[in-house]
Amino acid sequence: MTEQTGQTTSGAASGTTRDTARTAIVTGAARGIGAAVALRLAADGHAVAVVDLDETACADTVAAITKAGGKALAVSADVSDEEQVAAALTRIVAELGAPTILVNNAGILRDNLLFKMSVGDWDAVMNVHLRGAFLMSRAAQKHMVDAGFGRIVNLSSTSALGNRGQANYAAAKAGMQGFTKTLAIELGKFGVTANAIAPGFIETDMTRATAERMGVDFDVFRQVAIGQIPVGRSGKPEDIAAIAAFLVREESGFVSGQVIYAAGGPKD
Ligand code: NAP
Repeated sequence: MTEQTGQTTSGAASGTTRDTARTAIVTGAARGIGAAVALRLAADGHAVAVVDLDETACADTVAAITKAGGKALAVSADVSDEEQVAAALTRIVAELGAPTILVNNAGILRDNLLFKMSVGDWDAVMNVHLRGAFLMSRAAQKHMVDAGFGRIVNLSSTSALGNRGQANYAAAKAGMQGFTKTLAIELGKFGVTANAIAPGFIETDMTRATAERMGVDFDVFRQVAIGQIPVGRSGKPEDIAAIAAFLVREESGFVSGQVIYAAGGPKD
């Protein structure tokens, strides 16, 4: 077992259980939700591999973590490419230690109504979300099983329940939920949990791009979304980071195979 054994400060500060400092991987962590999750896990004491398509794009996240006193490594990889995933894991193990936390967050949108959706747009979305989560989880689980401990968190979406113009994305995000539950069943006996977070409207470049594609000013788009959210506000990447932080804790080990909707109100 090669994971680090330092102690986090957050547990000590709150007087609750202290978590072992671990090596975490967050995909799509150059910006948006992934960046917030990476920052939060680093603040909780974990060494974080900031994985994204472009290593230089990870620099801001790594710099923010380092500036706050945390430890991070920028790693470029296309999560849908088997060889790149294998190379990324080799580098992470060598430079940060064996990963026992994995957050499959990388994602893309290729929205269109079914009759206009190209095969390329279908495949691209399936490849990043589903193939990416599969490849990363398969590569990381070995280290988790060896350690007798692991936490996998997958990003689903409220779109898993169906959303106009998102046949590809909705299918992928519903698939993430089945994938998550199956990992929970297969890996539970090795101390590994798998859970999914299904966000609603979170303010990131992804929702900005959706507004732009629809030709709607982002503030107007945001206000319309807020009008339908019971808590009366939009989500922020930090809202999702807080849930990921909870799910990866040692004391969360009896929560597995769950989908946590984070949408400011009920979803079913
Ligand atoms: P974002 O701002 O667009 O960030 C996604 C990140 O993933 C980008 O840095 C992107 O890199 C990276 N990425 C894309 N394809 C990749 C690949 N093949 N390999 C590695 N990295 C890749 O999106 P976000 O809003 O933070 O969303 C993060 C996750 O939450 C996604 O899975 C998304 O589906 C999910 N989600 C978001 C919302 C929301 O309202 N924002 C709601 C529900 C679920 P590039 O910039 O180079 O493309």
